[in-house]
Amino acid sequence: MTMPLTVVSANGHTWRLTQRIGSGSEGVVYAVDHARPLVAKLVPAPPDPVAYRRRVERLVRQRREPRAVRLLSGGTARVAWPMVGVRAGGPGPDGVDGYLMADMRHAHRPLAHLLSPQARPVHLPRATWATALTAGLSLARLLADLHTEGYVVGDLKPDNLWVDAHGAVGIADVDSWQFEDGGEVFAGRMGSPGYTAPERIGAPAGTAPDRAGDEFVLAVLVHELLMCGLHPFAGHPAAGADYLSYDDNVLHGRCRLLDRTSVVLPRSAPLVDLLPRRLTALFRAAFGGVRPPASAWAEALAAESEPARLRTCRRNPLHVHTAERPWCPWCDLAEHGADGYLDPAPEPPAEGAAPYPKDVRNTKVRTVWQR
Ligand SMILES: [Zn+2]
Repeated sequence: MTMPLTVVSANGHTWRLTQRIGSGSEGVVYAVDHARPLVAKLVPAPPDPVAYRRRVERLVRQRREPRAVRLLSGGTARVAWPMVGVRAGGPGPDGVDGYLMADMRHAHRPLAHLLSPQARPVHLPRATWATALTAGLSLARLLADLHTEGYVVGDLKPDNLWVDAHGAVGIADVDSWQFEDGGEVFAGRMGSPGYTAPERIGAPAGTAPDRAGDEFVLAVLVHELLMCGLHPFAGHPAAGADYLSYDDNVLHGRCRLLDRTSVVLPRSAPLVDLLPRRLTALFRAAFGGVRPPASAWAEALAAESEPARLRTCRRNPLHVHTAERPWCPWCDLAEHGADGYLDPAPEPPAEGAAPYPKDVRNTKVRTVWQR
């Protein structure tokens, strides 16, 4: 799609687009010339353009309903809710629909920056394992609140998530959620590779997402947060099979937390015993088939984030770990040449807007631990 110069709302208000800042599987995001930090998401080829327009209209209307108001009151920029439906390219069949939303780059970084040991020191130089715990807690509370209000994310993944320097998490791509409006169900999108519950992997197109699927992915994301980006189903199959994908390992139950002998991981991978016992139990439940709800994760992560539950290493102030562990797991890891929390880079990070998450895919966060 060539970049449109303007977008227009149904009542004729026009916004000027300044630059293309990201693209995903189904949409393109542009910066908007406006006093407030706004972006426009346009979806060039939705399967059903009329249905997509209706979906956006309903979401914009819900912004004033109690369920969305409650969600949005839980913190600034917590959800990049659709503000107004817009169209580029005129009213004809060549027009492209979309909506305006808050520019999450204003106060947040892509979640991938916190997950990646390479990107974190550059973009979030003060982040520690305590920041990862806070981000997990913030995400769990957000998902618990979404579920309470009747929304299902469906395509939960780092590309849709944002985090600030304190670990507060925000979510975008609301137009792919599943929700009910006026007795009608607006179906959500399925999950992405590596972020799909086992019962949904290979499910036929059009299968509706559900809360249990979100709860599986929440556990995957919390694991990645607490383990320097390590996917819980990462590793080469120990039984001689070829490594195909995270999803293949999920389908075969190859998970270090469930069975230490099921996968081979490099010595540079963070050790299982850096997790507090309470969280290990939740991960085993989530990946073993009895998924804790988001609220149970929030409760456990809040408890483990208490200052009394944390220790800071004497050698490196960025080495924060659970009080259950008598010595620093990050120093142990550094001995294997993979310090999870290096001292900040001597150069201050460049100021300015973060790239959109689709543009930071090359941070290796998904591949670095696979073998
Ligand atoms: Zn240490």
